[in-house]
Amino acid sequence: MGRTAFTAANKAPSTGINTSDLPKLSLAKDEKARIIILEDPVTVWQHRLQMPKIINGTVQKVEKERRNGGTYSDYDWEFISAPRCMGKEDILSSDAADPENCPMCREAQNGLLQAPKRRHAMTIVQYGTKKNGDVIQPFSASVKAWVFADSRFEQILAIAEGLKEGASLSTRDLVLGPCSDPVFQKFDVTAQERCAYLELDKQEYITALFEGNKFSEAELQNLAAWESSKLKIEQELSRIRACWDIVNGAQRPEPSSATDAAVQSDNSLKEELAGLLDSQTGGMGAAASGDPLDEFTPKTTPKASSGALSFDDLTA
Ligand SMILES: [Zn+2]
Repeated sequence: MGRTAFTAANKAPSTGINTSDLPKLSLAKDEKARIIILEDPVTVWQHRLQMPKIINGTVQKVEKERRNGGTYSDYDWEFISAPRCMGKEDILSSDAADPENCPMCREAQNGLLQAPKRRHAMTIVQYGTKKNGDVIQPFSASVKAWVFADSRFEQILAIAEGLKEGASLSTRDLVLGPCSDPVFQKFDVTAQERCAYLELDKQEYITALFEGNKFSEAELQNLAAWESSKLKIEQELSRIRACWDIVNGAQRPEPSSATDAAVQSDNSLKEELAGLLDSQTGGMGAAASGDPLDEFTPKTTPKASSGALSFDDLTA
């Protein structure tokens, strides 16, 4: 290794934009908000990385309720991360996946992960309101980032399509809420007949507030889905492949007695690896609680990855 001089040129490379402090639109239980949309959202694609939980070599299952009644058994999923898809924008917008450029899209094709989903983020202006959503006096407003999934995009699109021809979303206030579930930010969005900032002649104030404080393209992209490194993604995919190898191994039918001895030693190795995997993954699941991402239930169990499971897979 050479030496690194204490000069500005040798500052550690930037690890991306810190967006954790940006004010985000988030409704508390039963809260209502009144907002104005003044720009189109930035859209990125996001993967959800998760794998079945394994404790002491046992694959964990949970009973889940179906929407139309009844229950079914599912893996107890352990969330790992939800990074931005590495695919090219034009390919993603036409094919909804880019396996050539994104290793996670490749694994989605193999059935190991779900396909990427769109996430949107934009700057909105939120009025100062009473709890019931009425605009307070004196007039006030603040700029916030609103991050949402495709279902919310469709909802706003329907509102925009319902406007008179030529009318813009920016000429209608939107009332959000009341919020029924703050964790998953469940609330309705309704367009109002009235537009408070126009009626109160606050157009200049709102325009200056928005233009002076709106978030950059990069900030919004980062808020919608965090950009991980290629190395970290490969490490996480290795963990997921190793986990599925154990899951599939554990589900293998009982072999004939002729191969019992060999299989027994193979199984004990798998148990050991499972234990190792558990100890490495403890506590990771908490990271995403509260992220309103859809749940992933694969239609089929992914096939074990080719090649034997090695310690390198687990420790990479
Ligand atoms: Zn991808």
